[in-house]
Amino acid sequence: MSEFKLDFQDTETAFADKSDSDLKEKFRLFKMLNSPVMNAIGTRAAKFALGLGLPVEGIIKKTIFEQFCGGETIEECEPAIRKLGAANIGPILDYSVEGKATEADFDYTRDEIIRTIDQANNDAKIPFAVFKVTGVAPLGTLERMSSKRKLDGKSQAKCERIHSRVNEICEYASKRGQPVFIDAEESWIQDAIDRLAAEMMEKYNTHQPIVYNTIQLYRKDRLKFLRESRRRASETGYILGVKLVRGAYMEKERGRAIEKGYPSPIHEDKTSTDDDYNAAIEYCLKHLDEVAFVAGTHNEKSVHLLASRMHSLGIAKNHPYVNFSQLYGMSDNLSYVLAKNGYNVSKYVPYGPVADAIPYLIRRAQENTSVTGQVSRELELIQKELKRRRLS
Ligand SMILES: Cc1cc2nc3c(=O)[nH]c(=O)nc-3n(C[C@H](O)[C@H](O)[C@H](O)COP(=O)(O)OP(=O)(O)OC[C@H]3O[C@@H](n4cnc5c(N)ncnc54)[C@H](O)[C@@H]3O)c2cc1C
Repeated sequence: MSEFKLDFQDTETAFADKSDSDLKEKFRLFKMLNSPVMNAIGTRAAKFALGLGLPVEGIIKKTIFEQFCGGETIEECEPAIRKLGAANIGPILDYSVEGKATEADFDYTRDEIIRTIDQANNDAKIPFAVFKVTGVAPLGTLERMSSKRKLDGKSQAKCERIHSRVNEICEYASKRGQPVFIDAEESWIQDAIDRLAAEMMEKYNTHQPIVYNTIQLYRKDRLKFLRESRRRASETGYILGVKLVRGAYMEKERGRAIEKGYPSPIHEDKTSTDDDYNAAIEYCLKHLDEVAFVAGTHNEKSVHLLASRMHSLGIAKNHPYVNFSQLYGMSDNLSYVLAKNGYNVSKYVPYGPVADAIPYLIRRAQENTSVTGQVSRELELIQKELKRRRLS
């Protein structure tokens, strides 16, 4: 068998659609994010200024927002959608509004998610839609549902409204044959999300994978959960859809566990998370006749592992049940090289009003300090391309 190779250092491909000035701008921003001090000051200052109602939205929009988001509305995302589509990368419209609390907000978000399903349905380049259950549900109710405490009448009514919003989204997606991801969130609300996702899969995944739940492999219990989910799907007779991620709420999870005095659900070290992530990839490949999955990751080793295992197992690069996915503004070296080589690859394109996207932006900023390593990787690649273009 021929030797398997993908060149993720190919910065010419990774940044082909970036102009010289785009690239320099990207360099400036990632350099700032790379410094833990600047990163912390920037994030705090942004929260503070927004809290005081200072007019900083314009600055945020022109800098970090433009780097990690497609725009404030679906229409504003058009250039990003077109660029990604032209490189055979499937854009995924991700309405990134977080922290809303009223029933009217939740209905609005449900309708907006339905608009993204319509958009995907009308554009063959858009492979998936996505939503967060907290976008259509109050946190407190999800927490009560997850704790399995008995719900009072008021909570029961809220619970029914959550159920019907989630069902409306999934039913709409199913009628149009449009797959939809349900993002994973904090462990103390995840049980309610998992139960909703399982019910939706049972309803809508009987002939094709429409609903995908998300599994966070930084949790100690999630490989077992993946196996149980597969068994349940197999016994009940539906296709399991899963998005595999490492998990975005590590500090928050650990902090809460300490504060409340329970064992942290998160692995003690990065190696254990990586091992479970890669084991989950192997597990899904082994059960590809009944599991459709998406590797949502920027980790080059995991991406390489999946691509090389597909090669050695003789799985087609464009097998409909195997997908790679990254976030907009990050790891273009993986997305563009995978797409050029014929794999199914997509990218979340977050959008929404600047102020509402702040929690998402803060997660990206924190993930992108030199401490976590992602930005150093990102910076090295940008520097390499600047050099190749003789711009530095
Ligand atoms: C397409 C896509 C969709 C996503 N959807 C979701 C989602 O629905 N829910 C969600 O929570 N996240 C989601 N994420 C974010 C994801 O969970 C990660 O935070 C992010 O992708 C970084 O992990 P990585 O696999 O890219 O690789 P890496 O950069 O190699 O890994 C970093 C991750 O490893 C884990 N980690 C780091 N240090 C330690 C440690 N000391 N001990 C244990 N674990 C550690 C953490 O999860 C950290 O985020 C998504 C990411 C992508 C690309």
